[in-house]
Amino acid sequence: MIKHDVVVIGGGLAGMRAAVEAAELGADVAIVSKMHPVRSHSGAAQGGINAALGNRDDDTPDNHTFDTVKGSDYLGDQDAIAAMCEDAPGQIIWLEHRGCIFSRLPDGRIAQRPFGGAGSPRTCYSADVTGLVILHTLWEQLERFNVKVYEEYFCTALCVEDGVGSGVVAYNMRNGQLELINAKATIFATGGAGRMYLKTTNGYASTADGMGIAFKAGIPLMDMEFVQFHPTTLKENGVLMTEGARGEGAYLLNSLGERFMFKYAPNKGELASRDVVSRAEWTEILEGRGVDGCVLLDMRHLGREKILERLPQIRELALDATGKDAVNDPIPILPGAHYTMGGIETDKWGATRVPGVYAAGECACVSVHGANRLGGNSLLETIVFGARAAKHAVEYIKKAGDVRPSERTLKAEQDRINQLLARSGGERAPKLRTAMNSAMSENVFIFRNEGQLGKAVDELVAVRKEFDQKAYVMDKSATFNTDLVGALETDFLIDAALCVATGALARKESRGAQARTDFPDRDDANWMKHTLAWRTAEGQPRLDYSRGITITTYEPQVRTY
Ligand SMILES: Cc1cc2nc3c(=O)[nH]c(=O)nc-3n(C[C@H](O)[C@H](O)[C@H](O)COP(=O)(O)OP(=O)(O)OC[C@H]3O[C@@H](n4cnc5c(N)ncnc54)[C@H](O)[C@@H]3O)c2cc1C
Repeated sequence: MIKHDVVVIGGGLAGMRAAVEAAELGADVAIVSKMHPVRSHSGAAQGGINAALGNRDDDTPDNHTFDTVKGSDYLGDQDAIAAMCEDAPGQIIWLEHRGCIFSRLPDGRIAQRPFGGAGSPRTCYSADVTGLVILHTLWEQLERFNVKVYEEYFCTALCVEDGVGSGVVAYNMRNGQLELINAKATIFATGGAGRMYLKTTNGYASTADGMGIAFKAGIPLMDMEFVQFHPTTLKENGVLMTEGARGEGAYLLNSLGERFMFKYAPNKGELASRDVVSRAEWTEILEGRGVDGCVLLDMRHLGREKILERLPQIRELALDATGKDAVNDPIPILPGAHYTMGGIETDKWGATRVPGVYAAGECACVSVHGANRLGGNSLLETIVFGARAAKHAVEYIKKAGDVRPSERTLKAEQDRINQLLARSGGERAPKLRTAMNSAMSENVFIFRNEGQLGKAVDELVAVRKEFDQKAYVMDKSATFNTDLVGALETDFLIDAALCVATGALARKESRGAQARTDFPDRDDANWMKHTLAWRTAEGQPRLDYSRGITITTYEPQVRTY
């Protein structure tokens, strides 16, 4: 048995920030990660990280809070949002002092670019590779504190004994052994769930594992119906073209050569929030003003020098996938699945309902993004709430006694895996994953309606059943059995997808990323409340609306850009 005081599941930005904080506070902390930390999806983040440093104007954390509340379409909890925006400048300086190389203004201060839905240029960046730069900074800090990393350990379940978290069960991918990892505090930092969709900007590892694990352990998932579709992704492979491109001044054009965004967002145009821009693009495409099923992202007027200095990565990505050079040609793009606003329900310290269990980063729902996340706020969330969860956890373990190793969870997980391995026929897990992907991509997309959502729920309930009764893997070996790991990931994705579709069907209003054509208006009288999804034995989640929205300062207003 492996034993630590604090174990962090995930080595992305949220996980590493949490581990570094716990280590700095003197705790015995380890990271469990299914891949090497610097390969985490955080490393793909391009555009930047928000903080009201006020380096280009007199921006303040209060302004940042207001923009985020408005961006969330008033579904975000305002106490949590204020905590994030107030911590933000200090965390950027913290990163800076640990060697993070941000792009600069001519006078040497940290540069900030405009981003969607923001009243000020407040997105700090390192060219268009911001995530990678921060990820490596944190990796160096992990090395500095000698934090133990259990690499290529796939966490399969949370242990809860006597009503408190007591660690996890993890599958050692190198030798096929299941191991019990005993800990007084467990922090999930397992990232998003973009792989619910056929095409997504997310890496192959963004498979909702932490969400599925918490859900199976009886912790509710919150606001899962809110999935962000990013306005600028490549048709060929779903790869992201950062919002930083529009932040630097790129245009969106339709087949008539019009900058159509001003029809939809007269003030902000291309820099309206992501839900607004994605719906506008999709409307242009549906109404016949698309170009080969896309609209165009035009950067030509920025000039070669600026593109090479500020946006070199996306120029290369577009060149590789489409053969088009952004310096000379507009790039065809369309909206794609990008970010999971929902996740494991926590309070503003990252604590879940189960003592000793925390979540931070994209797998968590704190909630700071509400119904729509602003660009640049997610990297910020990983850093702020990674640190906050660790602070709380370190205080918690000082009072907590030893926790009981959960032999019964180990046994249950061994049985579950043995069953998948023992079946020699039935349905292969990848086929069930494709069925889940199709249900989501066809029916739970940008515009939604009762008929399609009902169809998605029915299909997903059927996939859930088939998986439980028939799923099997062909590879029976113990060494790097990716067939088995893929099946376990599919299991988690099905749970997450069911929560998304069920929540979307039940929420009879349009708010943020949830656009119902049959209920086109926001309905504050009936729907100013969070959706909590609890697991039931039948597979379909039970929804509960007992958690209201925390409003401290800003009463809901009509949201225009
Ligand atoms: C292409 C792209 C660009 C983006 N650009 C920006 C941007 O510019 N600004 C911004 O604010 N946001 C951006 N985002 C969003 C942001 O990058 C992510 O939300 C954030 O990085 C997530 O960090 P995380 O630490 O929560 O998870 P991740 O970085 O996804 O890390 C998850 C970790 O969990 C581990 N893990 C997962 N499951 C298991 C398991 N079962 N067992 C063990 N380990 C597990 C993985 O190994 C990994 O280390 C972008 C996202 C994408 C996809």
